[in-house]
Amino acid sequence: MLEAGARVGGRAHTESHSLGLPFDHGASWLHQANDNPLTPLARGLGLRLLDHDTLRDRRLVTRDRFATPEERKDFAAAEDAFWAAIEAAAADGAPDRPADQAAPQGGRWDATIAHWEGAQICAAELHRMSLHDLAATALDGPNLILREGIGGLVTRLAEGLPVRLGARVDRLRWGAAGVVAEGGFGSLAARAAIVTVSTGVLAAGGIAFDPPLPAATQQAIDDLPMGLLTKVAFRADDPAAPDLPAFASVRRAVESTDDRPMSFLSRLFHDPLLIGFCGGARAWEMLHDAAALEAAARDEIAGIFGARAAATLGRATVTRWGEDVLFRGAYSHARPGALAARRVLGTPVADGRLCFAGEACHPRFAATVAGAWLSGMAAARAVP
Ligand SMILES: Cc1cc2nc3c(=O)[nH]c(=O)nc-3n(C[C@H](O)[C@H](O)[C@H](O)COP(=O)(O)OP(=O)(O)OC[C@H]3O[C@@H](n4cnc5c(N)ncnc54)[C@H](O)[C@@H]3O)c2cc1C
Repeated sequence: MLEAGARVGGRAHTESHSLGLPFDHGASWLHQANDNPLTPLARGLGLRLLDHDTLRDRRLVTRDRFATPEERKDFAAAEDAFWAAIEAAAADGAPDRPADQAAPQGGRWDATIAHWEGAQICAAELHRMSLHDLAATALDGPNLILREGIGGLVTRLAEGLPVRLGARVDRLRWGAAGVVAEGGFGSLAARAAIVTVSTGVLAAGGIAFDPPLPAATQQAIDDLPMGLLTKVAFRADDPAAPDLPAFASVRRAVESTDDRPMSFLSRLFHDPLLIGFCGGARAWEMLHDAAALEAAARDEIAGIFGARAAATLGRATVTRWGEDVLFRGAYSHARPGALAARRVLGTPVADGRLCFAGEACHPRFAATVAGAWLSGMAAARAVP
């Protein structure tokens, strides 16, 4: 395994040095845990899994206050109506279209739900995404979290594997006789290659393929662009820090047409951390300005909890998935009309001598660690 970075795990990355507490820069949850291939692997390693959905207090902020129980009920009904509309539209026999065209509009919570399901969950606005792919890749609970983080889990799973770190592949020659990977590390000839870099890296030409990729594979890469989700984690040790229970999540309602709220997670595992999420276009706009993103998160927190509580927050860490040339974004979405792209990219080339795998290649668990895992297994089976 040739890995360009200085560590294994890729977008599954948990570190404790920047804030003194474990922080998942990328993946945090094992989604749809009962069907997730990582769940039994985590259990097999003896790791403790917590069901976040049963622990978390979900707060909704609207018009500068927390929503009432009645409003929360109304919001939950609107969320159910959103998914019913998406599923019905995806099954109506009409051609694929941008997902926003199927989303309910005009109701009190509709703009908030569209922002949440698009920018904040899928890391891209609904109008950029295929309706059919959104419906095909929608996941359910349980959503499990681990003390070691998903990065900790993947690092454990990689123990003992023959990994060469700091080995960036710049060029990959491929053909019926096999492959040769080349880079600053030298060159390595093999029977076959499974390429798992993100579609952001592939689209930017991060690896030069020789000969060039088949047109269908290249088109699939272009049809699976990366969205962006940037996290900002604050130390929140002061007793006057925003008053939230452990494991709570906070969403704020969209209050105007240009409003793009961040969302927050409080004190996972009782750690004094408050983690903000900024997704989609707003995150791309602050791609090279972590300080601006941190300041925007502090403003959001002040708007919800008051300036005094916000001022107690300590130092912060902002994730850099968009800027990092080894990733170029958070995870993929399919462009409208491109439902087939995930299968096309996952189809072996040269009788399995060249295979692509990773989250973008899985038609059901796309954008997740589970999708990356399952597509990697399928690619390994395709190798001659
Ligand atoms: C902010 C954020 C939140 C997320 N939340 C969740 C979540 O809660 N649950 C979930 O399941 N998923 C989540 N995800 C998605 C999940 O992390 C990814 O889908 C998954 O980890 C992708 O794995 P992969 O193997 O496809 O790609 P990657 O993890 O990107 O692995 C590809 C590897 O290739 C390396 N590389 C790049 N270029 C080269 C080169 N030229 N030569 C050699 N190596 C190279 C990279 O360094 C990287 O290690 C999240 C992601 C982000 C960014």
